[in-house]
Amino acid sequence: MVSIEKNNIFGNVSLEELMDATYTASTNFQVRAFFEAKDEILKTSKYSEKEFFEILDAMIDAETERKIVLEKLQGRDPLFLSEIADKITLFPPENVIRDVIYLMAQGYVEEHIEVKTKMVTKKIKGEEKQVEVKEYFYRYQAKELPDDFIEYYLEPVSIVFDAGVCCQCGWCSAICPVNAIMVDADNLEIDAESCMKCGLCFSVCPRSFSIDQATKAIKKLDKELNWSDNIGAYFNTYTGSTTNEDIVKVRQDGGVVTTIAEYLLKNKLVDAVIAVQHSEDLWKPEPVIIDDVKNLYKTGGTKYANSPSLKIIDQAKKYDNVAFVGVPCMMKALEKGALYPSGLPFFKNIKYRIGLFCMESFPYEQIINLTKEQFSKDIKELTKMNIGGGKFIINLKSGEQIDVPLKEVQKYARDSCHFCEDLTSDYADISVGSIGSQDGWSSVITRSKAADKLYNDIVKAGLIESKSLKEVKPGQFLVEKIGGTKRNKCKPINLKEIQNGN
Ligand SMILES: Cc1cc2nc3c(=O)[nH]c(=O)nc-3n(C[C@H](O)[C@H](O)[C@H](O)COP(=O)(O)OP(=O)(O)OC[C@H]3O[C@@H](n4cnc5c(N)ncnc54)[C@H](O)[C@@H]3O)c2cc1C
Ligand code: SF4
Ligand code: SF4
Ligand code: SF4
Repeated sequence: MVSIEKNNIFGNVSLEELMDATYTASTNFQVRAFFEAKDEILKTSKYSEKEFFEILDAMIDAETERKIVLEKLQGRDPLFLSEIADKITLFPPENVIRDVIYLMAQGYVEEHIEVKTKMVTKKIKGEEKQVEVKEYFYRYQAKELPDDFIEYYLEPVSIVFDAGVCCQCGWCSAICPVNAIMVDADNLEIDAESCMKCGLCFSVCPRSFSIDQATKAIKKLDKELNWSDNIGAYFNTYTGSTTNEDIVKVRQDGGVVTTIAEYLLKNKLVDAVIAVQHSEDLWKPEPVIIDDVKNLYKTGGTKYANSPSLKIIDQAKKYDNVAFVGVPCMMKALEKGALYPSGLPFFKNIKYRIGLFCMESFPYEQIINLTKEQFSKDIKELTKMNIGGGKFIINLKSGEQIDVPLKEVQKYARDSCHFCEDLTSDYADISVGSIGSQDGWSSVITRSKAADKLYNDIVKAGLIESKSLKEVKPGQFLVEKIGGTKRNKCKPINLKEIQNGN
């Protein structure tokens, strides 16, 4: 049940208000659709009866909480998320913040964006120059609604796919309670017969409505974290390299990801790791659940084609604790699934999110074309692909290494990656990439105190050699710079405008 604290600045909640909110919550389309489809949901065996009621209960609680937050916002001037969280002390601040963003998706709240310009001093080619920069301020206000207002119906995610912005992460397919969504690396289909229009897939999809302002405000509540507009919230940054010679043979950069995964499995901190290996078609990624350390090394190295890894998460339900390795859009999907619709993570066994840096990924067919057209090579001749120093580099079985400028291969990348603002997996527990580090090393960003302790335990165990990322060249400076470039180049997503062809 929703619990109410006293003495809040926006007034307390009366029993009548609570009853009204609970009634409105129980009439919410998402809650109703979920409840009414109970038999169909249980038939799929995706969620047990106990889990079904836990999710339902959490959905009603979250919806009740949102309706109370909305009530408290009525008639007020536009406010920053942090101000709203300060004033509505009925619920934890992070709940209030996530609620305001969801209320916006439901059509009750509007966002006011104010843009200001200011001059800052920047070093350009060694010379200090005054440069104009824009600052954005986001405030939120309850809308004045007509009497006949009906809250926005959250559509199934086919609208995300049809708009060309789906990143094929596979999360919706894992979440859908009636298994109506089929996702692969290039396609998404919804079985209209079984879809019960609960909108759950839309509420957790990383490409439906934005959570950037909510998560920024929530992360800033944690005073132990550092904040960067370009790489998000972080505890510390490092450059690391594995000391395990077997991992060196299969790694992409510093072998940090495989070393962390091995440590988690060997120390029974997790029962399984979800990662990516080559499928029967070499360089075509295949998501896998690894529960035996001896199979882990097959996952080492980067496959630049995209892999809808989140779709297999429900197959890992039998494990109590799981680590998930993936690219930034998948980390965002997991974060959104933890915030919405109810703040109850659907798969509570995901204990560690290991996020990779990612500038773009490619359709598998385009990886084949790229190899043929840019290097005149067959994909089977390749032992490694890499991006570094502004080049796309391939290594061949013959021992030869060839590269082309990165700009020559960007035309092969997936269109939907142009809507991605995150380079460094802002929503991971630990992020790992090559930018910023020397060859054979990985840049590592720990994003919580617990994640930092885990990384340093691995270093202390002698499994990773590690230094501060601020002390090496090009180091954190370059990660932040390229992170900023990706954010600035990112195309905005406005599903309604895209659908209308604007
Ligand atoms: C599509 C893609 C694009 C990338 N782009 C950049 C970039 O622009 N800049 C940058 O600094 N770093 C980028 N990276 C990250 C980088 O290539 C390395 O993965 C990272 O530095 C970790 O190296 P490592 O030696 O520690 O990993 P390893 O120990 O070699 O482990 C690699 C891990 O990556 C996972 N993996 C491999 N392919 C995929 C895939 N397609 N999807 C999900 N997981 C996968 C494997 O399961 C494995 O767990 C990218 C990664 C991917 C997958
Ligand atoms: S959840 Fe992922 S796969 Fe599903 S529609 Fe959204 S972006 Fe696409
Ligand atoms: S496809 Fe989406 S809207 Fe339809 S049942 Fe599945 S989760 Fe619900
Ligand atoms: S660029 Fe973004 S959308 Fe594309 S694969 Fe990487 S994280 Fe996903």
